[in-house]
Amino acid sequence: MKIEDVKNLYENYVLNTYTRTDLCMVKGKNSWVWDIAGKKYLDFFPGWVVSGLGHCNKYVVRNIKHQIHNILHVSNNYYNELQGELSKKIIENSFKGKVFYANSGAEANESAIKLIRKFGNPEKNEIITMQKSFHGRTLATLTATGQDKVKVGFDPLPEGFKHVPFNDIGALVKAISPRTAGIMLELVQGEGGINIADVNYIKQIKSICEEKNILLAFDEVQTGFGRTGNMFGFQYYDVQPDLITLAKSLGGGLPIGAMVVAEKYANILTPGSHASTFGGSPIVCSAALGVLEAIEKDNLLENVKRMSKYFKNKFMDLKAKKPIIKHVKILGLMIGIELDTEDASYVYKEALNKGLLINCTQKNILRIMPALCVNKKEADICLKILEEIL
Ligand code: PLP
Repeated sequence: MKIEDVKNLYENYVLNTYTRTDLCMVKGKNSWVWDIAGKKYLDFFPGWVVSGLGHCNKYVVRNIKHQIHNILHVSNNYYNELQGELSKKIIENSFKGKVFYANSGAEANESAIKLIRKFGNPEKNEIITMQKSFHGRTLATLTATGQDKVKVGFDPLPEGFKHVPFNDIGALVKAISPRTAGIMLELVQGEGGINIADVNYIKQIKSICEEKNILLAFDEVQTGFGRTGNMFGFQYYDVQPDLITLAKSLGGGLPIGAMVVAEKYANILTPGSHASTFGGSPIVCSAALGVLEAIEKDNLLENVKRMSKYFKNKFMDLKAKKPIIKHVKILGLMIGIELDTEDASYVYKEALNKGLLINCTQKNILRIMPALCVNKKEADICLKILEEIL
């Protein structure tokens, strides 16, 4: 097939809910992908970080290959050993508690919203989230999201959400009421433009939550699994939440979402109160176990820390040369380059023509999230292309 044939199929048969680039990918390995015409691209935004370790990671592929010969799906009314093993590994790497499995970030957050409401009801059922946040596209998660653009046309929205400015402890304190059951936030707002929470802000939120018996939930759908240079973002902040939600990189390319709940709150959702038919099936758990093995065996957290410094230095050098760069925001391998322009989409488009895939968010912020296995040679290719364009 040619790209035109594929586009034709989409035009006739696929619901048009995405802004699509003329690119049909057929193969990927680590930081690289190939399109249907055989052209190679450096992928610095691998599947919105679903392929966060890199495409077709060897441990993930090995585990999937092994598992397809055994069993693909097991009902959650039976036991499945891989779900048990994966949960043990996630808990050992996070905090004492229990895991629930879903299939996406939105569903993981939907689970968190249900848990927070069940914890607080009937006295309290309000959840505070942040402006510019992104939590998903289901009705509850788009309501939790602090961006109006995702809500247009979907009234009536569920009640019980308040939004406050990010990194503003005063505004948060003002918004808290006796009805506040939970606070949910991303430690680094990805979709919002790589806005990094201040360490002190997160520590203050934690102590307020403890004092007022409010459940603290971190949406780690993007920050989880090594992205910040720690296994989870909360470890960078040295603040343990009551709950985290996970997805994207966890499946190494397969769809999985998860909610990790601290022991104290692990009995709130009971049999019959929440479920997911596909959640935590053996095939996705085998892939996720491969993700954790890769992070450990290939020392990917060290690589993220090393490469984060490298990118930071290089982007600061570029900023000194290119006045169009207003801010360089980096935590681990979450990189935001804020440009002094109304619309930076031309950078994304020209980069694509030059064989580099990145993202542009909030109109003027380049979002760059390379695979955790990225090396200096690949970083230099990206930097050279961006320097040429800017
Ligand atoms: N939470 C965050 C922080 C995200 O970045 C996203 C997706 O981009 C979601 C939740 C929703 O995840 P999904 O698209 O898997 O439903």
